Formats: sequence, structure tokens, C-alpha cells
Amino acid sequence: MKAYPLFGPGLPPDTFREVDLSIANKALGDALRDPASCQRYLDGFLAGSGGRVAYGGYLERRALYQGFSHFNPEGEASREFHLGVDFWAPEGTVVYAPWDGKVHSWANRTEPGDYGPVILLEHTLAGQGLFSLYGHLSEGSLIGLYPGKEFRQGEALASLGGPAENGGYAPHLHFQLIRDPEGYQGDYPGVCARASLEYYRKNCPDPLAYLGYF
Ligand SMILES: [Zn+2]
Repeated sequence: MKAYPLFGPGLPPDTFREVDLSIANKALGDALRDPASCQRYLDGFLAGSGGRVAYGGYLERRALYQGFSHFNPEGEASREFHLGVDFWAPEGTVVYAPWDGKVHSWANRTEPGDYGPVILLEHTLAGQGLFSLYGHLSEGSLIGLYPGKEFRQGEALASLGGPAENGGYAPHLHFQLIRDPEGYQGDYPGVCARASLEYYRKNCPDPLAYLGYF
């Protein structure tokens, strides 16, 4: 089923511009770690590219997560490969359900660098079960949810949180697809270590291929 625009008709995919936030982007420096610096970088990028939403990051290698003990418990390999696509848009931007779905689980993950408010939906696409994860939402997005709550394609699902509630980032949506949530509730790894990349790239297919916007 063709996907509905994640930010609705007011911010259609033809206003999206792909941005490189990888370790290879030397101009970015440490900006991802600081919401204000990150926003300045993105604003400059969008001004230069004539877009309104910056996006990208599937399987991108990032330096960001090395600063958070949450992602890198002692003795574990560093998790630096990003498993979703980030869509950078202003705080309060409404997120619409891309397909019919129902609520699998949700949580407010308040550790610095984590998702903040996050929702997982369950879908059936082309006869197959698939889960979608929406991270870095506003706290208000979690009001009124219950397991199995249905969202029709194009129905308002949530809105983007600001740095005070979204884990400490410039406002953005972390959108990830998951074949098997492995028992996670209101959570799923959004980054992984190189050693587990082959597993996760199978369990978390490329969201852009499913959204079909570009
Ligand atoms: Zn992300």
C-alpha cells in the first residue's frame, strides 16, 4: 500500500532533502550532540538546498552515540550504525500514520540520548506483518494510547518533541521498520555495532524503500 506522507500534505516529500550526518561529514563535527548546534547545521543545509525537511541515515555510521553510556555499556562494542531514517522537522510537526496500523506498544524513554516518547505500530503490508517505530515524539503523543488502538492511514498519530522531552536532540522523527520486535515493548535498538549489522539490516529493512516517496 502506498505510504501517506509522514508529515502530511503541508510538508510533502518533495520538500525533503537528503542530508549526510555520518562520521564522514567533517563539516558536522560534534554538532549532533548539541541540539542548538545541530539545528543551526540543519537550517543552513536546508537553506542551501531549498528544502524544508532534512532526512536520511539508514545504516549510516555516526559518531554521535559514543558520548552516551546508555548506548555503550562498558565492555560492549560501540553501537554506531543507525537503523532507522531520521526526518528533521520543527518541534510540534504532526506525524501521520503512513499505513493502516494498530498500536503495538509505547513508552517514554527519558535517558539522555534515548528516544524520549516512542510509539510502535503493527501493520500488515502485502500480507506480511511489519512494525514501525516512531521515536523522539512529544510527551502529549502518548496520551490516549492503548494496545491495539487503530490508526487509519493518514490519521494524525503523534507530534515531534523538543530537546527537553525527546532525549536531548534537535527535533526529528526516528522512523524505523522492524520485522520481529523480539519481545521489546515501547523500545527497539535504533543503532547497532558492526558485528550485528548483518542481523539488523535484515530485521530492519530500509524505510525509504517501503515509504516509496523518492
Ligand atoms: Zn534516528
